[in-house]
Amino acid sequence: MGAYVSLPTWWRSNDSRYRLVLGKCPECGAHNFPAEGVCASCNADADFEEVEPEGTGTVQAVTVISGGAPPEFDEYQTREGAFATGIIELAEGARLPGMFCDCDPSEISRGDRVEAVVRRLYEQEGVPRYGVKFRPVE
Ligand SMILES: [Zn+2]
Repeated sequence: MGAYVSLPTWWRSNDSRYRLVLGKCPECGAHNFPAEGVCASCNADADFEEVEPEGTGTVQAVTVISGGAPPEFDEYQTREGAFATGIIELAEGARLPGMFCDCDPSEISRGDRVEAVVRRLYEQEGVPRYGVKFRPVE
């Protein structure tokens, strides 16, 4: 996250951003995100089967960003203050980076259960960008 993403690239990737499409490896059964490239588990260069995850996971790492966010998050940070980002391991086993929402960023910690929700991420070239964030579940 944080790199400049052009509009065409954004729209092409919308599907996986909204639905968190995983790629199930036909060789070893591991789930990969994004659903392309080689398998992170067995390095097979195979055609993944697309799988929609249930959308819950566990926080593996968390970082609270309270200043110096990438430019596209300036507005968000001004509006929301500090926010938390981190690595989430989905119930299916795939790991991905994400932002946390609907909570005090200092309350997120490793091992917390979270669920995926679609939220506005930031605005670029006048277009709001939406994507998946994770919020704590009790
Ligand atoms: Zn594999």
